[in-house]
Amino acid sequence: MANELILIVEDNDKNMKLARDILQVKGYRTIEAESAEAGLPLAAAQKPDLVLMDIQLPGMNGIEALKELRASPETSAIPVLAFTASVMPQDRREIMSAGFDGFVSKPINLKEFIASIATTLGKPGGAA
Ligand code: MN
Repeated sequence: MANELILIVEDNDKNMKLARDILQVKGYRTIEAESAEAGLPLAAAQKPDLVLMDIQLPGMNGIEALKELRASPETSAIPVLAFTASVMPQDRREIMSAGFDGFVSKPINLKEFIASIATTLGKPGGAA
């Protein structure tokens, strides 16, 4: 299993390290960006199998970044999971209606995190 390439867009060092460590232990390859502005060109160039996207980022936020990914033919089919501490139902609805493929909450729940990644990669349109 695994070996898929996952782009993590996250501006918090601790969250980045935790996500990276878990994914690498599970056999995924990771690339990283600390902002949407850095992540978008990386996604276009590296064509990751999945993007883990923080919502609150300096500059462009994660929802705007998702729209940019969807608008570009090079990145439109890449599944994107929202990676956010926001658990308010209204925020969650806004995130899902923006078109994310799913939602991973912070702080990370290990089982839920791994399951969400695996499920999303296994979906049609995700990496097989
Ligand atoms: Mn953030």
